[in-house]
Amino acid sequence: MITNRHILIVDDNESIHQDIEAILASPSDATDVQLAEMESELFGDTEVIRNSEPIQYEIDHAYQGEEGFEKVKKAEEDGHPYSLIYMDVRMPPGIDGIQAIQKIWGKYPHVEVVISTAYSDYSWDQIIRRLGTSDKLLFMKKPFDATALKQAALTLTTKWQLQQEANQYTEKLEYEVAKRTRQLENFMADYKKMKEKAEKASEAKSSFLAEMSHEIRTPMNGLLGMNELLLDTDLSEEQREYTEMAKVSAETLLKIINDILDFSKIEAGKMELEAVPFNLSDIVKTLSHLIEKSNTGKEIIFSSNTDKKIPATLIGDPVRIRQILLNYGTNALKFTEEGRISFNVELLAEDSHTVELKFSVSDTGMGISADDKYKLFEKFSQVNTFTSRNYGGSGLGLSICKQLTQLMGGEVGVESEVDKGSTFWFTAILKKVESNGHPVDVNNDKKEAPQPSSPATGKILIAEDDMGNQVLFKNILEKENYIVDVADNGLTVIEAIEHTPYRLILMDLQMPKVDGLQATAAIRKKEKNTGKSIPIIALTGSMIKDYKSLGFDDYVLKPMKKNHLLQIIRKWMDKESVQSSQPQ
Ligand code: ADP
Repeated sequence: MITNRHILIVDDNESIHQDIEAILASPSDATDVQLAEMESELFGDTEVIRNSEPIQYEIDHAYQGEEGFEKVKKAEEDGHPYSLIYMDVRMPPGIDGIQAIQKIWGKYPHVEVVISTAYSDYSWDQIIRRLGTSDKLLFMKKPFDATALKQAALTLTTKWQLQQEANQYTEKLEYEVAKRTRQLENFMADYKKMKEKAEKASEAKSSFLAEMSHEIRTPMNGLLGMNELLLDTDLSEEQREYTEMAKVSAETLLKIINDILDFSKIEAGKMELEAVPFNLSDIVKTLSHLIEKSNTGKEIIFSSNTDKKIPATLIGDPVRIRQILLNYGTNALKFTEEGRISFNVELLAEDSHTVELKFSVSDTGMGISADDKYKLFEKFSQVNTFTSRNYGGSGLGLSICKQLTQLMGGEVGVESEVDKGSTFWFTAILKKVESNGHPVDVNNDKKEAPQPSSPATGKILIAEDDMGNQVLFKNILEKENYIVDVADNGLTVIEAIEHTPYRLILMDLQMPKVDGLQATAAIRKKEKNTGKSIPIIALTGSMIKDYKSLGFDDYVLKPMKKNHLLQIIRKWMDKESVQSSQPQ
């Protein structure tokens, strides 16, 4: 430690300067060494203990209080401050020692001061009252005791030095903390910017996907629908085979597109589940039949069982439950050559408002090894390239099932043994229908069942800009004896209904000039004056939850199933004829 022993003596008496200088310059005697040893014990091993040579003090002199202050100021400015001041009290005619200390401490509060006086001009109490209690202040009466003076110089200059070091260390720490805080603030600002950028990108991705969803589903609708029409015509065996193959490819493509869209929606946190009443055992039965129907030539027995204790009607999202069961079911069929595939729903727990159910699909297929099981529900995971090459699929199905299940407050899992079979399961918490609630309109799958075609009456207007879809809708509806007009944009629709009393409009949402949403809004506005309300069915590539508030009576999701479309048309045509036959 290099100690600063820069001392200032402020006294109007020259002989005091000489006395102090002489005492501080005198070699250490036994007492000094003893005291130095004691100090060393207190403050650590300093150079003093090993050195009985006089300590080198650098001493300056001032004879008036003002002069003392100026010297302190200059030394500070020069970067070589005083660590200790010996200050006389009486120094006429200028400011006295106490005033000088006040002035010095006002600017330089760290300097150590020894007040040295022969007279008690001020009592200690008065001094404290004027200067405040301070650990930087010592009082010594003249004439001085040489050892006490020397030891005071040694201790106070060392104390000053230690204080400076502590201050520097604190400053350094404060600087480091401020630097780190600034870094952290910059980091937080960058992070915020990046987060906002990522959120914007994710929003852009979602709206891009919603647009693409429509763009892709529209031609897919044409492709699948035309294919269906083609299969209804007289085809040679070879032509039928190719058309069937085209159908399978189109359906596979559609499944992949749907998976990617669902996956992106979940990733963007945009997947919302419905809460509507539905009949659970109908869903399970229909699904089992659907899978059974798509089985071509494998020796498999299908069965389904829903625990009798489960209430017939529940509230939840039947579309998503069906989607998970369909994914499990098609996988079971894909990976099973013979044996059994069964669908089961079991009641796990129940309270007055909810039920917890376990859905499972078991097969006697190829099974999955313990090593592969853990990665099954991860994104883009197929057990091996052999399965993807031979069975197709995006590897997204099970990961979507897992995320949908989590949205329903449940979990997924699998038990499997190679060559024995697998049981894929998921749990879900569903609401019960309150017994005192309103009558429940159970949305069961019978809707999808083909219905005999009824003699159609009334004209339908198809608003659709895609030529392929125009031909498709026209064909389907004309086969059912409906009379059909086509408009390829919203403006034409608005004009057409002025002249022709259509019974129903099928309205595509995205059309040039005036789109389906704008056209529907304009029609509903006009109807406010006439009191009429024409059924408008939206044709959309993605689900629209708030279709009613947008002025639509119903919607059909593209690519649509022919029977579903016809069933919706019939429903609204019937409703309209009942209403119009009622007395006004
Ligand atoms: P993909 O959409 O490609 O079918 P899934 O996520 O549905 O993807 O399934 C991922 C993989 O899990 C499949 O490729 C297959 O390897 C394995 N797998 C799923 N279900 C079964 C099952 N019932 N039996 C054997 N393997 C299965």
